[in-house]
Amino acid sequence: MQTTIQRLSAQAAAAALIMTCQAATSQNVISYAPPMKNAMSLSGSFGELRANHLHSGIDLRVGGVEGEPVYAAAQGYVSRIVVRPNGYGNALYVAHPNGATSVYGHLQRFAPAIAAWAHEKQYARESFFLDVELDSLTFPLRQGEQIGFAGNSGSSSGPHLHFEIRNHSQQPLNIMQQDIYKIADKQPPTIRQLVVYCFDTVQGTPLPKKYKALGVRPAQGAYKLAGGDTVTVDGACYFGLDMLDKMDGAAYTFGVNHCTLHINETLAFAYNISAFNFDETRYSNAMVDFAEKQRAKAKIIRLYVAQGNRLSIYRQVKNQGIVSLKPHEKAKVCITLTDDADNSTQLTFWVKQAAGAAAKRPDASAEKVLLWSKNNTCEVDGFKIAIPTGALYESSLFEMQTTPPSHNSVSPVFCVKQPVTPPHRAVSVGVRASVPEALWAKAVVVCMDGDGNKSALATTLRMPYFTADSRSWGCFFVEIDTVPPQITPVNFTRDAQLGSAQQRITLRVKDKLSGIKSYAGYIDGRWALFEHDEKSSLMHYYIDRSRVKSDAQHSITFTASDVAGNSSTFTCTLHF
Ligand SMILES: [Zn+2]
Repeated sequence: MQTTIQRLSAQAAAAALIMTCQAATSQNVISYAPPMKNAMSLSGSFGELRANHLHSGIDLRVGGVEGEPVYAAAQGYVSRIVVRPNGYGNALYVAHPNGATSVYGHLQRFAPAIAAWAHEKQYARESFFLDVELDSLTFPLRQGEQIGFAGNSGSSSGPHLHFEIRNHSQQPLNIMQQDIYKIADKQPPTIRQLVVYCFDTVQGTPLPKKYKALGVRPAQGAYKLAGGDTVTVDGACYFGLDMLDKMDGAAYTFGVNHCTLHINETLAFAYNISAFNFDETRYSNAMVDFAEKQRAKAKIIRLYVAQGNRLSIYRQVKNQGIVSLKPHEKAKVCITLTDDADNSTQLTFWVKQAAGAAAKRPDASAEKVLLWSKNNTCEVDGFKIAIPTGALYESSLFEMQTTPPSHNSVSPVFCVKQPVTPPHRAVSVGVRASVPEALWAKAVVVCMDGDGNKSALATTLRMPYFTADSRSWGCFFVEIDTVPPQITPVNFTRDAQLGSAQQRITLRVKDKLSGIKSYAGYIDGRWALFEHDEKSSLMHYYIDRSRVKSDAQHSITFTASDVAGNSSTFTCTLHF
């Protein structure tokens, strides 16, 4: 396999994309071009830790403005069209002859022919949400053919293009590392601190705990510990690093996708984020010191593989990354970080075991230890929680607190202290509450996080408990939701005449507690496409002259229902 690198820009000042060709298989060699024409730079890199997942592509900047044309990176055909109020929003999938698929997310809109096709499907199904697969004949594409416009649709916090390439197994690829694209970048990763974790043994179970956080200093192109070159530990331990990567000319910081740990010159731990499976991406929660992420928003990557962590990025891991030394024994530790442009940095230090055995923490009999390899159940008066095998990455302490009803609850408030990381699989909670039978259908189990954000969970009554599945820890209680969604016009007044320049009608649809479950809009009694943007709670209807009469009086009806079954209807007439 041969790879030719073709430099588009010699200047390293901007993080310019440098296109290369990729030899995928010997029979099916295709070349990829950048998906946009402007000099490109990144605001997000592959493999970054995001909420409950690893970032599966790159985020390309568009200068804060929507509407930049987006082109097929290689020849192929549109194989899937997705339209949704969250996630990638308006997204296109392009299948290529080598079995790979390129993905373009958060588009403002599709190219006209694709948009018209998607509209037909949406009207035929009377659904804004669309997820359809297409054959190779519907939209065959040449390389560089325009497929859409970059935007901010779905769960996006600013205009950009999310771009990814998946291999034939639908694994997203680190395209900057795999010679598909390259970035001009000479800046190695930087290290902000080293964290040492040791273990407490509670009721016979070792539980990791933060032991020491140590400053580092740059020294001749590498790093050393700021306070002397030896760290003394008390028993078995592993390491964590607060680290980041920068790219030439980019104001953003990125993750580090390649790391090795050598103990006395022997490789003892490595990870490389070059590809992964979508069904393993939530295990990324086990990569970080989650407590520290919650507390200080710091992402300390643990050079440690928790027993229940099934991420496939790890290599050569000995004893989960744990270093165990004999009393007084000393070992040399060398950690090497490498970014996707092959810039490396190192931290070297010595680790020394203190004399004697690790100090024992006194056992508190009231503490309950959750074992990662078992089903765990806990029950107090009025509350029960079942934590299935596979929900925990490592054993942890279980602590909870019950307080009287508050936050509009009709039950006591049961706060489960977060055991290290969010559950990988849903835990089942049951809350007892006295609710009149007439309101059973309106009762919802609420999970409130540490910042007071509530989310209502899909609730069923299993006498005498209201039960729900949760993938978060928090405070659980029951609330009664009898408040229907609120529907308010945003850019028009009832019974008005719209100006000829007005292209869309916008409603804001909000629900107080349980959230919008379904909605539908009608113009003159016929279903109309209202486009839902979840982050802004807005519903946009773009006036479609092919479906409604111009310069006429129209009736608008919009209904929305929440998860607890409360619904409301907005009606008005508009002249347009
Ligand atoms: Zn992205």
